[in-house]
Amino acid sequence: MGRFYPRLNDTVMTVKKTLQINLKTIPETGLDIAIDLGPEWFGRWREEDPGLEFADARINGQVSLSKHGPDILVRGSLSGQMELACSRCLESFAAPAAIDFDLLLVPGPPTSAAADAELSPTDLDLDYYTGESVDLESLLREQIILMMPLKPLCDENCQGLCPRCGANLSRETCTCSTDTVNSPFARLAKLKI
Ligand SMILES: [Zn+2]
Ligand SMILES: [Zn+2]
Repeated sequence: MGRFYPRLNDTVMTVKKTLQINLKTIPETGLDIAIDLGPEWFGRWREEDPGLEFADARINGQVSLSKHGPDILVRGSLSGQMELACSRCLESFAAPAAIDFDLLLVPGPPTSAAADAELSPTDLDLDYYTGESVDLESLLREQIILMMPLKPLCDENCQGLCPRCGANLSRETCTCSTDTVNSPFARLAKLKI
């Protein structure tokens, strides 16, 4: 972790335990919240969800909340880096990631009929809030999951792993393929042994 984001060790992060935004704290003009999510925040998430598919991340951005009657419009913009495993070679690498989102939170919980009938006529994503606060913590987690590429690649030209010996073909060559036995690379590989 430290070697992956060496600069982060210098930064002392102050992360609130949870990002619960009380609706009363949202003024009529709206509320802008600066987002700065680092190792502490992601570490807590990983403790709660060990199946999390990225090792570490650093995400910055901004979220604005505004009231529209009983509804809350949440507009956000996030960007940063996520440490992902390459889908070809399985090496971890820092992937740039970004997302912009508009969410309309309407009072919930949803009844199944209402959820089907009241589809928003706009392109806004509809979600629900309950009680007197917005759970920005889980909202951000959802958006960060959406930021993840389906097939992360450390490099477009990543050669992946040799299906026979598992060598990382982007970094080394192996002698599994007879076609390459006489190539300079294959000879080099033998020298290393
Ligand atoms: Zn790769
Ligand atoms: Zn091989």
